[in-house]
Amino acid sequence: MSRKPIIAGNWKMNLLQSEAKELFSGIKDFVKQYSAEQLPIVVVAPTFTSIAAVESQRCDCGCRNLLFTAGQNCYFEKNGAYTGEISVEMLKDAGCEYIIIGHSERRQYFSETDEMINKKAKAILSNGLIPIICCGETLEQREAGVTDTHIAGQIKAALESLTEEEISKSAIAYEPIWAIGTGKTCDSDEANRVIAMIRNVVKEISSTSAGDAVRILYGGSVNPSTIEEQMSKSDIDGALVGGASLKVDSFTSIIANTMKVAV
Ligand code: PEP
Repeated sequence: MSRKPIIAGNWKMNLLQSEAKELFSGIKDFVKQYSAEQLPIVVVAPTFTSIAAVESQRCDCGCRNLLFTAGQNCYFEKNGAYTGEISVEMLKDAGCEYIIIGHSERRQYFSETDEMINKKAKAILSNGLIPIICCGETLEQREAGVTDTHIAGQIKAALESLTEEEISKSAIAYEPIWAIGTGKTCDSDEANRVIAMIRNVVKEISSTSAGDAVRILYGGSVNPSTIEEQMSKSDIDGALVGGASLKVDSFTSIIANTMKVAV
């Protein structure tokens, strides 16, 4: 089963509008050399305040089908008295096609629970957008040998009562927390093993075809020198990239190196 790879840049709480525009412009100049068929699906997740700046460039350059934007988070309610929150419909209205949910930083600093992640996934899918659902274990959990049970639990909860079709459209990002922003990449065979385990969980709770269709990315200190090996593995369908997505050269090298082995 061939799954189109996704390379997604999570800009986190970085870059003012002018900086976001500059970064986006460099990425745009790179992707414009290729067709959508040649490229992986390239997604960037700016801060909410920079989405409009990025979107206006995306509309101008005719690269709407080459580059996509994502929200870094959303709230599951449609609207109302939820000060500081942003709805899926608002992100859709701003131009986003993807939304990252359940990032370990949101779980750790903002108390995002599996139940909230499930509600967010449902809201995203019912608005026609694609969730990038993050999961991953801490170093303590890995050392205690509970990586697989912990991640299987996160995935089952996040996908609870989603249809086979909804799961097939979704993306999951396996991000070992100890590998995020630390420069310690997870060994590619081990990342592939965990990702294959996640795929089997999806098959078990939904269907074989949903498990075969769902895109499962790896995230955790991905850089231009790690991506080729990661993308050559059977079950790794792309990358969620933090630090290395903040520079044109490193992010576009990750895209270029992905194109060497997969797409
Ligand atoms: C992330 O935050 O999703 C991430 C993977 O960050 P980094 O690439 O910097 O490890």
